[in-house]
Amino acid sequence: MVLVGAHLDSVSEGPGIQDNGSGSAGILEIALKMAALGTEPRNKVRFAWWGAEEAGLLGSQYYVDQLTPREIKNIALNLNFDMIGSPNFVRFVYDGDGDATGTAGPNGSGNIEQVFLDYFTGQDLASDPTAFDGRSDYGPFIGVGIPAGGLFTGAEDIKTAEEAAIYGETAGVAYDPCYHLACDTVDNFSFEALDQMSDAAAHAILTFAMTTSSVNGTDKGSDKAMKSAETLEYQGNKLRR
Ligand SMILES: [Zn+2]
Repeated sequence: MVLVGAHLDSVSEGPGIQDNGSGSAGILEIALKMAALGTEPRNKVRFAWWGAEEAGLLGSQYYVDQLTPREIKNIALNLNFDMIGSPNFVRFVYDGDGDATGTAGPNGSGNIEQVFLDYFTGQDLASDPTAFDGRSDYGPFIGVGIPAGGLFTGAEDIKTAEEAAIYGETAGVAYDPCYHLACDTVDNFSFEALDQMSDAAAHAILTFAMTTSSVNGTDKGSDKAMKSAETLEYQGNKLRR
């Protein structure tokens, strides 16, 4: 099973359109399109809209706590989308193998990262790694050894001049100037970011929905795990008419 999640709650200070209406709407549209196009995934795909992420990952933690060992084993991976429409965005990919930030996820997380990286390379779009630190709803999943991955367009951190040269918009300003504030409204949004990131999300979801390869390989820590990434290529874009 491919478990796709986004948190539906916001902080009490604001409406949370970017954090996380962006991720919630993004995966909802993908689910609706898969249904409308009659997509028949080879693997099961489950969409989840988590509650109380902002209160400490309560919804996703509860969900994982309720799983039996067999159900945990049946979840091949978790894909998480928490903020994919930041107005001053960077295309961040969770650093699943830890090569950029030093914190790796469970075996297989690097393969998920690679699917996103290959997608952006194929689209001629730059991307950057972001720390795989468990600070969103994938945390409880990696806590029980389920590989995970996802996308992020930035929150309170400040965009560097280097990033502005690559991604445009404004250096010296937060990726999301209204992060966790009352001004996180429909005006606090980049539809360009949402468009690019939701396409990348759809690509990854369909890749894992259709693959016959195991996400994490069979040999823990062996180079076989990385090799399986090469066979994860999803041929054709079923989400385009
Ligand atoms: Zn969030």
